[in-house]
Amino acid sequence: MNKDKSFGDMPPDEFRKYGYELIDWVANYLENVGSFPVLPNIKPGDVKAHLPLSAPKIGEPIDAMIADVDKIIMPGTTHWQHPNFMAYFNSTASGPGILAELLSAAFNVNAMVWKSAPASTELEETVLNWFRELMNLPKEFRGIIYDTASVSSMHAIASARESVEYDIRKKGMSGAPKLKLYCSEHAHSSIEKGALTLGIGLEGIRKIPVDSEFKMIPSALENAIKEDRANGFLPFCAVATIGTTSTTSVDPVSEIADICEREKIWLHVDGAHAGVTAMLPEMSNHFKGLERADSFVVNPHKWLFVPVDLSILFTRKPEVLKEAFSLVAEYLKTAEDSVVENYMDYGIQLGRRFRSLKLWFVLRYFGVEGLQSRLREHIRLGQLFAKWVDEDQSFERLAPTPFSTICFRAKHAVWSDENKINEFNETLMNAINSTGKVFLTHTKLNGKFTIRLCISGIRTGEKHVELAWEVIQESLSKIL
Ligand SMILES: *Cc1c(COP(=O)(O)O)cnc(C)c1O
Repeated sequence: MNKDKSFGDMPPDEFRKYGYELIDWVANYLENVGSFPVLPNIKPGDVKAHLPLSAPKIGEPIDAMIADVDKIIMPGTTHWQHPNFMAYFNSTASGPGILAELLSAAFNVNAMVWKSAPASTELEETVLNWFRELMNLPKEFRGIIYDTASVSSMHAIASARESVEYDIRKKGMSGAPKLKLYCSEHAHSSIEKGALTLGIGLEGIRKIPVDSEFKMIPSALENAIKEDRANGFLPFCAVATIGTTSTTSVDPVSEIADICEREKIWLHVDGAHAGVTAMLPEMSNHFKGLERADSFVVNPHKWLFVPVDLSILFTRKPEVLKEAFSLVAEYLKTAEDSVVENYMDYGIQLGRRFRSLKLWFVLRYFGVEGLQSRLREHIRLGQLFAKWVDEDQSFERLAPTPFSTICFRAKHAVWSDENKINEFNETLMNAINSTGKVFLTHTKLNGKFTIRLCISGIRTGEKHVELAWEVIQESLSKIL
């Protein structure tokens, strides 16, 4: 096949042969993924123990790699694509998204500047304008794709910091006013990490208490801002969450926006998981006030079937984001700079993948209605599961279910010791997961060990939710 193995790439014929073979492999995998245990039955180190310590000196045939994928990688894989993966916030990759990933690797453009990747740049602008419309955001909002919500939020907080009346870009943080950022106790840890990265410091982050439904209390935010100003801090950013990580609670964005406008501080809204439901008119009550935010993050790689990774940051002040990061080296200047977007200007990264291609494929393949109906079905199943929990004497729900994530635990009339109840529920969750039939994770709510079940996978239907409920019931009777 390969006449001269010392130089050049894999010959086209060989690429074709293994390309077809791997597409079959992937199609079989996706067809049968529900038959594997969701969680692999392995111990730390098991995968490494099967891998050589050094790279091979002489090239190997692709057959050898495929065989090892079956023998070593598969048994060490947690199957996120499994219909009963109901842990964390699921990310499932759809067929059109996977195919687009292949294309994007083939083009392998680096979209630093328009000239280095015109199609990638202009497709990103176009698809994000479609997406802005789906999210019902006003026209002033501009979108940009980053890898993850953590990185999107870090750039939002950097924009907030850039808006402060002190030239941090020029002078750095050491002589800057003591900045303060606000988020609820239930905000994602990425908000704190973003603030840490930007030199805000842990003392510059204030967690606002939540009400009985785990939503930020606006009056507490207002009081905190007053108190901090009196103590010499400069409040500069508030983060509201639509769909918090533990319970998917929704902060009152509209009331928080009132406060941010009055106090002249940047409002960032984190909708990494639940933000996609802004495309459902019946969910609009959760998004009231979003149009007044300064920035908003949503992850199509979570609940919109786009392969990891693809996060979108929308901002109504793209010029501020650009002010914070633009730094154009001589070798990156082009003749078109005044008429095009050069995405390198909007963040810390120079190089970037052609990510918009997979969002474009997913939006076009399913269509807006196809995506809406999938989200609606997940929400219907979430409400159904919540009803099963409520109607069963052996269980109780520990938080409202605005979307399709259910927080619950087992209970018993004679149990009173909270520690014992916590231990029992942890044992229950481990028993459920050890069946390999379903994978759930937990959180702690008001000191209570809380089992979480999230329904957002593209392959998840009613029968999978029924199976999960059966496994939960069986595991409970087994350990009682
Ligand atoms: C998942 C999640 C994040 C972090 O997302 P990454 O893309 O993994 O960085 C942030 N905020 C919320 C609310 C999330 O659900």
